[in-house]
Amino acid sequence: MYLNFYAWDYKKKINRLKRLKIPFKKLYLRLMNLIEFFEENYPKIKVEGFDSKFLPHTLLKTHLDCNFSQRELLGHSFLGNDIYLLKIGCGSKKILVWSQMHGNESTGTKAMLDVFEFLKLGHKISQNLTEKLSLYFIPMLNPDGAERYMRRNSCGIDLNRDFVKEASVEIKLLKKAVYELRPDFLFNLHDQRTIFNVGGTPRPATLSLLAPSPDKSRSVTPERKQSMEVIAYIYNRLQSILPGHIARFSDEFYPTSTGDNFMLEGFANILFEAGHYPNDYERKHVRRFNALALLLAMEKIADDKESNAEVYVKIPENDKKSLDVLLRNVLLKSENAESLIDFGIYFEEKLNQESGQLEWFSKIEEIGDLSAYYGHLEIDMNGKEYCGHSSILPESGQLADFSVGDIHFDQGRFCNKMNSGASKTISH
Ligand SMILES: [Zn+2]
Repeated sequence: MYLNFYAWDYKKKINRLKRLKIPFKKLYLRLMNLIEFFEENYPKIKVEGFDSKFLPHTLLKTHLDCNFSQRELLGHSFLGNDIYLLKIGCGSKKILVWSQMHGNESTGTKAMLDVFEFLKLGHKISQNLTEKLSLYFIPMLNPDGAERYMRRNSCGIDLNRDFVKEASVEIKLLKKAVYELRPDFLFNLHDQRTIFNVGGTPRPATLSLLAPSPDKSRSVTPERKQSMEVIAYIYNRLQSILPGHIARFSDEFYPTSTGDNFMLEGFANILFEAGHYPNDYERKHVRRFNALALLLAMEKIADDKESNAEVYVKIPENDKKSLDVLLRNVLLKSENAESLIDFGIYFEEKLNQESGQLEWFSKIEEIGDLSAYYGHLEIDMNGKEYCGHSSILPESGQLADFSVGDIHFDQGRFCNKMNSGASKTISH
């Protein structure tokens, strides 16, 4: 079940209607809105074989070879890997979407694959999008980084800070595509870390959106206003399935970044940051929300749906107050004194080159008074004593290797003995 997270009665509504006679059911299916239709069909839409956060170029290439023979070769990465351009639809308004300019941020690419399947469904909702829009996709702008699960490209360049200098071959390819196609809208797909919460709340920022600033004074140009309106539309519509989990990314101007510079050059664009969702470290659910957000943005642009840019500025801002594990009130003792402190643990991902699997390591991120922080897992230790395994005293940045009561970290591995005494590695 995809909808068991919130009290949203849509599934019940569908089941009730399915029991009706066929003509009524058919009528209802015709009257579904985009979100209802997407959710109803998601098991069909979801592309299998892409469950890991590690999405190497070889896996994407195999999928595209089998399913998108009509793709174009946009060019090659520094190490010679193919970078593709796909086109779907033949409408007058053009949108260009690219993903994974940071190689270890794969959620947008997976969302993109799901969007492709949605657009192929042949229903009037998908047909409407492909008739009114020409949709261009660059899935994985940084294949070398993706292959090694690295943020940067193979030369160590952060592509999202290379707009002006153009030191990387990859950013040149993106700019070439934009200048040749002159799209009406650009969508720039990224992932953000689990530390981001929706400002003022303990909820993780599952989706953060940004209409980038074209200058230091954060001017609202006509193109930026258009981007704000699209975000406002996504925000309002997604409230039904993702309430309280959408935030506004910081609009501080970055003089070398992609979105800010495209905005300065008059290209309306939106940054999508896929973030954390409870118990979804592989971002299997987040991918679905990301795909829906893309489709809603396309619907808004295709149909000129009404929305108010003022909604955008009212979206809560991203904050950095989330920790993966927060242990409150841990007792730390020396021969001279005692301290009651909070421990904040952050999970770091690493690719195991031999197995090709991602592994999560726990690091001590913060120590002290963490009353302003939230934990994706939060436990009050009620004064239980800290017992370091490899070092007596804890230190920020250290690999977690300690026990407190029934909570155990073994050289960065998080084990939980709370349930029936059986040691169990928390699955991420
Ligand atoms: Zn990124």
